[in-house]
Amino acid sequence: MSTLPTYRWRLAPEGLATRRQLRALGLRPGGQDVVAEVHRPRRRRGPLVAYLYRIDRAKPVRPMSPGRAAALAKAMAARRTCPACRRDAGYCIPRSLGMCVPCADCPPS
Ligand SMILES: [Zn+2]
Repeated sequence: MSTLPTYRWRLAPEGLATRRQLRALGLRPGGQDVVAEVHRPRRRRGPLVAYLYRIDRAKPVRPMSPGRAAALAKAMAARRTCPACRRDAGYCIPRSLGMCVPCADCPPS
C-alpha cells in the first residue's frame, strides 16, 4: 500500500500537477519524487491513479544552457554560410545546391 497522501480527482491541492499537466506547462518532474496521488473512481474497476509532482520543483522540458545555445547558434551559422562566397546567406544552404542560390545561379569566377 502506498503511504502517499491521496486526493480525490480535481481536489488536489494547489501547486501540484500530474506529469501530463506539467508537460502542458512546458515542465517535467525533473527527478523529484512523487508527492501525492489522485484517484479517479471508475465503475467496476479499481480507481485510476495519477501521480502528482510539485510544480515549484519541476524543471523546464529542455533546459538550454548558454554553452548549448552558443553551440546551436554556431551550427546554424555554419549551415547558413555559403562555402563558395563565404557569405551568410540568411537561410540554410540547401544540401542539393551545396551553395547559396546566387552562387548556384551564377558561380563566382
Ligand atoms: Zn554563395
